[in-house]
Formats: sequence, C-alpha cells, structure tokens
Amino acid sequence: MSELAYPYEAPASQALFDRAAAVTPGGVNSPVRAFRAVGGTPRFMVSGSGPYLTDADGREYVDLVCSWGPMILGHAHPEVVAAVQEAVARGTSFGTPAEGEVALAEAMVERVAPLEEVRLVSSGTEATMSAIRLARGFTQRTKVIKFAGCYHGHVDSLLAAAGSGVATFALPDTPGVTGAQASDTIVLPYNDLDAVHAAFAAHPGEIACVITEASPGNMGVVPPLPGFNQGLKDACAANGALFVSDEVMTGFRTSRAGWYGVEGVVPDLMTFGKVMGGGFPAAAFGGRADVMAHLAPAGPVYQAGTLSGNPVATAAGLAQLRLLDDAAYAKVNAVSEQIQGLVTDALSKEGVAHTLQTASNMFSVFFTDGPVRDYEDAKAQESFRYTAFFHALLANGVYLPPSSFESWFVSTAHDERAVQRIADALPAAARAAAEATA
Ligand SMILES: *Cc1c(COP(=O)(O)O)cnc(C)c1O
Repeated sequence: MSELAYPYEAPASQALFDRAAAVTPGGVNSPVRAFRAVGGTPRFMVSGSGPYLTDADGREYVDLVCSWGPMILGHAHPEVVAAVQEAVARGTSFGTPAEGEVALAEAMVERVAPLEEVRLVSSGTEATMSAIRLARGFTQRTKVIKFAGCYHGHVDSLLAAAGSGVATFALPDTPGVTGAQASDTIVLPYNDLDAVHAAFAAHPGEIACVITEASPGNMGVVPPLPGFNQGLKDACAANGALFVSDEVMTGFRTSRAGWYGVEGVVPDLMTFGKVMGGGFPAAAFGGRADVMAHLAPAGPVYQAGTLSGNPVATAAGLAQLRLLDDAAYAKVNAVSEQIQGLVTDALSKEGVAHTLQTASNMFSVFFTDGPVRDYEDAKAQESFRYTAFFHALLANGVYLPPSSFESWFVSTAHDERAVQRIADALPAAARAAAEATA
C-alpha cells in the first residue's frame, strides 16, 4: 500500500482497535467496520452531530454512511433524542405489550399500503429469517429463490452469494452453513427474469417464496430494471409462491413508503429495519393479513423476541418517522443529487472510468464502465481505485463506506457546509483514483 493510501495516522483509534482485537474477533462487531477491504485503521467514533462524526483522535468527518442508512435525519436529531430521553425515563423494557409498539406499527401500516399487519423484531436479519419461515409455513413448501449480490442479513439459508461484507471478503459460501440449509436456496443472477421462470419450471410446487432487495444496495446500488419486480410478483402469483420484498435498506428511505412508494409493485411480505429504528435495534416484517395470520399466537408459525417492540427503540423510530414528511424526502433527494453531481464531475475531470448508479437518494460509484446490472458486473469494477479514493476523502474529512460494494447515504442534516467539504475533498480523491494501480 502506497503512502498516499494512508495519508495520516489515527493513534487513538489504533489503540482502541488493538484493545478491541484482544477481546473481539477481528476487533469489530460487524465485519465491514474493520476496513479490511480498504486497509488502514478503522476510525472509532465518539460522537455524531447532524452530518458529522467525530473520531477518537478528535477529527471530524462528513458522514456518507449514516450508520448504513438509519440516520436519515442526521446524528442526534434533537427531537429524536428528546423522544428517547422521555422513553428511557419511563423504563427501558417491560416484556409486556405497550402503546409505543402499536403506534409504530400504525405509522408503518399507514405509510405502506401493502402492509396490512406487521410484527416487530430487533434486526433486519431477524425480519428476513422470520419472513422466510412464515412463507414456508404458509405455502408448506421448502425452497427459496434469492439473487446473487442481494444481502438479507446473516440468515443461514440466505448466506449464499450475498453481497456486502460477504462480497468484500469473497466468501461465496460461509463455513457453518450446512449443505442442507444452502440446498433449499436457489441463487439466481439479479435482473434476470428468464432465470426465474426457468427455476419455477424446474421446481414445480416446491418454491415457497422469492426474496429480493426491493432495490439492491448491498452490491453497490443496482436498481431493478423496469418490470423486473413486477415480473417477480407475477411469477410468484402464477406459481403459488410468495413475493418477499426486503426493504430493510430502502424502507422509509427511498420515499415515504420506501421502494414500494417509488415503483408500486405490491409484495406479499415485506421486511424493514434501519430507518424505522431511528438508530436503535428495531426491525419488522409484515404484509398480507391472511399470511400474517399464520404467525403465533394467531397461527402455528412460531416467532418471538424478548426485546421485540422495545419501548425506547419504538419511541426513536416513531419520532423519526413523524419527522419524515414530504419536505424531508425532498431535502434528502436534493442533497443526494448535489453530491452525485460533484462526484461525477470530479471523476470525469480526471478521466476515471466510473458508473454512478442511484435508487432515489441512495447511490454508489462503480469504478467500471457501466451499466452495472448484477453482481457479476459489480465484481468487475476496479476496486483498487475505490481504495485510493476512499483514503484520500478520509484524509480530508469525508467518511465513505469502507467498501466499494456499499450504498452511500445522506441525510436531511447534510447542509451547504457539509457539501462544501465534500466538494473541496473530491479533486484530490479523483486524482488518487486516477493514479491508483492494482
Ligand atoms: C442491513 C440489511 C439487512 C440486515 O439487517 P440487520 O439489522 O443488519 O440484521 C437485511 N436486508 C437488507 C436489504 C439490508 O440492507
């Protein structure tokens, strides 16, 4: 790695990372945080405010990760903080039903038309795991179709050709997932309806559901081609399978009603997380009432959780959703477009081959001539250029995802000052990308 790639040291973060490595595998609690794809010292953050994060060495960054999506109002939004403080003071967990979880479910059902009923859980992984179980219980079938490069959390049966951390670490298949668990999963190329029709033809009466990211953001941003999601829905309907749309990333981010609000394709089941938790562990799955009726205690499919519908998490999520009106989405979309334009201009000026892809206000840059339509296309990018680009921006106070297989995220708090810092940092980063060698 050249000196350019590590323009400065981060001694306080490094000391924390060393401490962490002694007690935690790889020093992190989620693999991508370890910076293995880009190298260097992961920054340990001590605080966040609006569009900024401050690390242990006292450096401030414009945050283009936003906790991987949840912080759509920026960090420590005063109204969300107030709602949380109020909830905490009333007690942090009851293990009983409470009004907050009803209010959050009502707010979600009100915004997303296909969501007739919803069950709250604590992580996106739990949401997709439970949705798959419910789909299997409802249809009494075993097989699941998923797409290469789509990530649905670390559910055993879905950790086949998953994007994100798995792509970063090039683990097409992780040890610990048994052949039996993987064998009920059919992995197809994304955006390929012919492959879907062929799979249904090859496995008549066996496929419980098709699960897809509503608009994938875990192999970088690779939106569905026009008609793809509708084609999935139609194929499922024709074959007695359920269409499960994973909106953990896109839900309440890409519009008031998530990706459903953008495209209007009606899924049978949907999964949520990230934005709906307001920065706390809250997630959900839901959809058709007749399908959800199969869930315990109403029906036979078991699902439960000690902290499900936690009063602090639901207060945070509800406060955040209430603030996410049309004006808020217009603001996030506008600042996203502004930053997209700056990135494209800087890279074009340096003659760097790249493709910037968007899904509403989600976007990412692939260092390849586009378009990027599936995971194979995404993997063909020159990731070494991203490494140089990432470190040059980091050195100048801009925090990008530490992997070229991730979406970038902005918030309502990204103001002119934050955008200006990005604009100031981009020329050197684009030059670093241009000069990078494999
Ligand atoms: C983040 C994500 C998940 C997993 O959510 P966790 O809360 O990390 O378990 C599932 N699906 C998609 C599309 C995601 O982006």
